[in-house]
Amino acid sequence: MAGTTLDVVVIGGGPAGAVCAATLARRGRSVVVLERQSFPRFHIGESMLPYMAGLLERLGLLDAVKAQGYVVKRGGEFIDPTGTKFFNAGVFRADFSKQGDGRHSETFQVERAHFDQVMLDQADKAGARVVHQAQVTELVMTGERITGVRYRHNGQEHELSASYVVDASGRAGTIAHRFGLRKTIDKLRMVAVFRHYDGLDERHNPGHEGDIQIGSHPDGWVWAIPLSQHKISVGTVTPRAVFRGTTPQQVFAEHSTRIPRITQRLTGTRPSTEFRVEADYCYHTDQVTGPGWLMVGDSGCFGDPMFSGGVLVAMVTGARAATTIAQALAEPAAENRLTAEYADFFKTGYDTYVRLILSFYGSELISALADANATTSRDKLEMYLVRLLGGDFWSAYNPIATALRANREWDTFAPFTPVFGCPVYPELDDLDHRELVAAGRRT
Ligand SMILES: Cc1cc2nc3c(=O)[nH]c(=O)nc-3n(C[C@H](O)[C@H](O)[C@H](O)COP(=O)(O)OP(=O)(O)OC[C@H]3O[C@@H](n4cnc5c(N)ncnc54)[C@H](O)[C@@H]3O)c2cc1C
Repeated sequence: MAGTTLDVVVIGGGPAGAVCAATLARRGRSVVVLERQSFPRFHIGESMLPYMAGLLERLGLLDAVKAQGYVVKRGGEFIDPTGTKFFNAGVFRADFSKQGDGRHSETFQVERAHFDQVMLDQADKAGARVVHQAQVTELVMTGERITGVRYRHNGQEHELSASYVVDASGRAGTIAHRFGLRKTIDKLRMVAVFRHYDGLDERHNPGHEGDIQIGSHPDGWVWAIPLSQHKISVGTVTPRAVFRGTTPQQVFAEHSTRIPRITQRLTGTRPSTEFRVEADYCYHTDQVTGPGWLMVGDSGCFGDPMFSGGVLVAMVTGARAATTIAQALAEPAAENRLTAEYADFFKTGYDTYVRLILSFYGSELISALADANATTSRDKLEMYLVRLLGGDFWSAYNPIATALRANREWDTFAPFTPVFGCPVYPELDDLDHRELVAAGRRT
């Protein structure tokens, strides 16, 4: 391959990179994925949103994922002893069957080592070349443009030239770090501590089998995600400041027992892995594209795991970047317009997701619900809330998202022009628009 110029090099083979590569390869584009690790490898991010099932269907991947036998997730249980977050309920279940007609009501809980391998295999099947243990060490520049990468593989240095380089390197943020673009989201300086437990018996679950549980307490929150019939992932998320003078293990021991409904579900289980810790994972960059490059997924932004949206937004942006690049390759004169539109699309989805998180931490989600309630009936309000919690980050017609977007305190990115339009259910989004026009609430 030396001496030839590829259409695209993708840095990183996580969900964003895999979907981007598969989409490009299916369009007949030459694409190489460089992944520094050897798959399967552990990765955090185990709970999927229901919009993920719709996305997988659009990408032609739903059957391949269903065939893996992952735990089926039909809802999310939010436990809030203060009763102030959702509809004054101590326990609110986002029941995915309440999203309205046409949307998938089931999704998956996955072990990412397995899921990511399945996704990357799909890229390989589609015709992308996937190189494992290939660490990108440098970006090749021609003037202002990125025109390739250098990478280390089997103890040797290699170089690839490409018309476009996609940064799908996740938190490593190859391009963001090279150009000093990354900014911490100061309101979200969190630390997560987690481990897996064996011996799960869902008969002890006071809620619904397969659901994620998210339990709030004064110093943060706790997750419980069933990964198989007998295995469950438990994690605590806490502001960094809470860790002063203590250890992750102590914080986990103290916080993970604060939510009685989770403790009850864990009856009879025993730890099966060591503790893992993740910190400083909330950041964004204002520039997500540049000459010859695009960021997808976590490489450009990540908010917080609270609402399990990371893999969805990573895959949506991976797929959108692929179509943007395919169009730009076909019409080079349109590159600037196309990449600018992609950047605004990227920010629209991440911005909505981060607003949802900030409103929850600040206990102001309830006021966004009240604002939304002014323009929609109470029964529809729950539908819109479940949709939003399910991944409805790009629609202009979800009144709760609209209320969240109106609050300038939750701006993450510098001002940008939103690119609305649900990438998962575009036809249903159009239908919502027509209904609002008929009701006289939209033009
Ligand atoms: C505590 C915590 C809990 C989470 N829980 C959830 C959840 O329940 N649900 C959810 O959807 N999301 C969750 N997330 C978020 C989720 O993990 C990410 O959003 C998702 O993995 C992003 O996918 P990605 O493809 O962008 O990046 P990644 O999945 O991180 O993939 C990036 C890949 O790039 C490779 N790479 C990095 N640098 C290089 C290099 N120089 N050269 C070559 N390869 C490189 C890495 O090895 C990696 O395989 C959670 C995150 C955290 C921190």
